[in-house]
Amino acid sequence: MRRVVILGGGFSGTSAARGIGRRLEVTVVSQDNFLLFTPMLAEAAVGDVDPRHIVTPIRQLAPHARLVQGVVERVEVDRRSIVIRPLFGDGVMQLEADNIVFALGSVPNTFGVPGVEEHALPFKEIGDALRIRNRLLALLEHSTQTPDPSFTRVVVVGAGYSGAEISGALADFLRPAAARFYEEAPPPAVILVDAVPRVTPALSPSLSAAAARALEARGVELALGSAVTEVRPGGITLANGRKIDAATVIWAAGVKPSPLVAQLGLPVDKGRLVVDGHLQVAPGVFAIGDVARVEAGEGVSPPTAQFALRQGRYLGRYLPDLVHESKSIPEFRYKTKGELVSLGHRNAVGRTLGVPVSGFIGWFLWRTYYLWQLPSGLRKARVALDWTLDLLFPPDIAWIPSSDLGPR
Ligand SMILES: Cc1cc2nc3c(=O)[nH]c(=O)nc-3n(C[C@H](O)[C@H](O)[C@H](O)COP(=O)(O)OP(=O)(O)OC[C@H]3O[C@@H](n4cnc5c(N)ncnc54)[C@H](O)[C@@H]3O)c2cc1C
Repeated sequence: MRRVVILGGGFSGTSAARGIGRRLEVTVVSQDNFLLFTPMLAEAAVGDVDPRHIVTPIRQLAPHARLVQGVVERVEVDRRSIVIRPLFGDGVMQLEADNIVFALGSVPNTFGVPGVEEHALPFKEIGDALRIRNRLLALLEHSTQTPDPSFTRVVVVGAGYSGAEISGALADFLRPAAARFYEEAPPPAVILVDAVPRVTPALSPSLSAAAARALEARGVELALGSAVTEVRPGGITLANGRKIDAATVIWAAGVKPSPLVAQLGLPVDKGRLVVDGHLQVAPGVFAIGDVARVEAGEGVSPPTAQFALRQGRYLGRYLPDLVHESKSIPEFRYKTKGELVSLGHRNAVGRTLGVPVSGFIGWFLWRTYYLWQLPSGLRKARVALDWTLDLLFPPDIAWIPSSDLGPR
């Protein structure tokens, strides 16, 4: 049987592996043994949902695939050879394949701003959500003894979808938590910063304005139109000269494709592997998700889970045929169903099927859609229960002691 190695066990990689099933010998190589449901990462960071409920084991999602948990270090495409540093044990491991699928996703983009790596918290992985939560709760506790306003001030850099979502979620969590449990602490503040003068600039100006109003209504301060020039140990500096002191700086300023794919000697555009209509980069080599530059109907696909999933499902269905013959196989086509951004409790903005939505209806649609998209019935049930309990009980301020509280 042909050996297919899928590099990356996220949205695109697991859906491809799942779809191929037993038709080929599939190996998935991934750093984690789970798929992270990123649309609910902001909710996990503030405790609206339990972080465990938004991760699903790859072995459960793709039971016929072999999973190798490790870091892909090098790929020799011509020889179809992959060098991995396994998570467990010493040394490196070499895998040989007949076909390779690149599904490595993206990494945070620091844009070369000094101090980001050292002093800001990224917001991309499940560990990032836990670290943000632990840090904020530790700082709330600390500020009851040392009432420094910068302890309870959070700067979120990047007013795109994920920055807007974490800002709204933090404002909804921190204010009620502080009012109820930390009366002595300085009132928390969330400041959303971006070089672009709009929040969620990918949406229309009127939806952007609705998002800005919703965030301001829950107390988020918007500092837009000026780039961050430096992240310092205790805050940030903006290009307009303003300095903001904040003990927590969250970097949500965007992502770039996994840097590994630019070193392969394969065609790339803005760091993404250029694929044909069958998601093929070179004969027998494929790319899907955030690392792939896919042109399908509506221009280049954006790096979102919606597209990554569809591309994974396409390869899952057609890869066993594509590796033999590609002529009669339909090309990948997908049109977006819309986009929704949650801005905290009971508010979301976006477009579904071309229709603009905002406010409570947007939020209801957001929750319904993403609950439906969550893999596995067990997780759907757990998240639905988390949401219900969150409506009924005060914010949960317990944090799990860890030595890894500060910026990495
Ligand atoms: C906070 C946040 C919120 C988001 N919200 C939404 C949303 O609401 N809707 C939406 O459509 N999209 C959303 N996205 C975008 C979405 O998460 C990505 O577009 C999607 O995950 C891309 O899927 P992928 O398969 O390409 O990569 P991923 O799902 O990121 O999977 C890549 C996998 O590869 C693994 N990997 C990477 N490098 C290596 C290596 N060297 N060795 C081994 N394994 C490796 C990673 O561990 C990961 O498991 C959000 C992203 C973030 C960060």
